[in-house]
Amino acid sequence: MAGSLVASELLSKINERRVLEFVQRNGPASRAVMARGCGMSAPTVSKAVGSLIRNGFLEETEASEGGFGRPGKLLQLSEEKANVLGVVIDADVCWIGSARLDGVVPKDQSVSFRTPKSYDGLLQAVISGVGEITGHAKDGLSGRFRGVGLSVPGLLNSRAGETVMSPNLHLLDGQRLAADLSNQIGLKGIALQESHALCVGERMYGAARGMDDFAMLDVSTGLGLGIVSGGRLLTGNSGMAGELGHITVVPDGERCGCGNRGCLETVATDTAFARLISKQLGRRVGIEKALAALAVGGSEEVIEQTVDYLAIAVAAVINIFNPSTLFLHGQLMNSDPAIFKRVLSRAKKRTLSPSFNDCRILQSRGNKRLGAVAGIIDHLANELAPAFATIGNGNVELS
Ligand SMILES: [Zn+2]
Repeated sequence: MAGSLVASELLSKINERRVLEFVQRNGPASRAVMARGCGMSAPTVSKAVGSLIRNGFLEETEASEGGFGRPGKLLQLSEEKANVLGVVIDADVCWIGSARLDGVVPKDQSVSFRTPKSYDGLLQAVISGVGEITGHAKDGLSGRFRGVGLSVPGLLNSRAGETVMSPNLHLLDGQRLAADLSNQIGLKGIALQESHALCVGERMYGAARGMDDFAMLDVSTGLGLGIVSGGRLLTGNSGMAGELGHITVVPDGERCGCGNRGCLETVATDTAFARLISKQLGRRVGIEKALAALAVGGSEEVIEQTVDYLAIAVAAVINIFNPSTLFLHGQLMNSDPAIFKRVLSRAKKRTLSPSFNDCRILQSRGNKRLGAVAGIIDHLANELAPAFATIGNGNVELS
């Protein structure tokens, strides 16, 4: 008896999750449209919708569905009652945004700031940024906001919720930012390693919708890799899998942020490219100025070298993981279709050809902001009910 009660409760929650995800994907819909779209009976949909309204996830709009018979009111994601916060920590600039449950961040609902030099400074800056966006409504925070998702760079131990080592932002080493933030603002916080955040964002809102086997190679600041295989994010034992960036490719090469020398990350990233351009110019420049310097010409050798190592990175991912689609995330490749093409043709030569032919390579249009937001929304959906194939097993819950 008790067993069947538990089972029917779980079934109700699974139905709620399906209805919620239907509206997240398709926008406002009537109960009748939801029933058709989810393959559920009208009473089942009505029950799920009732519960989602009571819990503040959905709201009825004034708009109705046209057509014959009794017009059906449209239901949409609640705009005021259920929001989430996304936080992106990066080596140079951090970002905080407030999002609706469909992932949209309204225009005036985000702030950016330069990354402080100390951990305490960072924590305080994030707390005051959250206050700025939420109107310092600390008591009201947990009513309207359901949680905060953080994208963090470096090795994140998902068991301990701790950034074990962040090669490009050492102030995070040994810190538990999601837990510290959670304690201060009284909201559930989850941290995602930034490459994993990119995967979750691309799968929820980007070109990887519905994909169960894909890879995300981020070659911007550092070299990060996220793999979704069989519908699950590969995390390894403690969430630290996929650190392709710290494989040695140049023995005795440049010193890497991890302490080793000649890691792939030191030669196959936007940062590496900017470093080479800086040497050429005789002054330190970031990636934007390095790209601008290309217009002047004379950088062919630098481009050639970076393209070569990018191709090695691409070939390694395809040979090892056999993804159906590989998304590439980096400003150098995005800046010029000709450079992107060169990386692909060079990678083709370095990859096992059956694996290369089995893989589409696309430029990623997602970003870490969407990833942070998607991470917490995915987590909330998992809390509602388990999905049959969930991407969120790499998340850390800390509240
Ligand atoms: Zn390294």
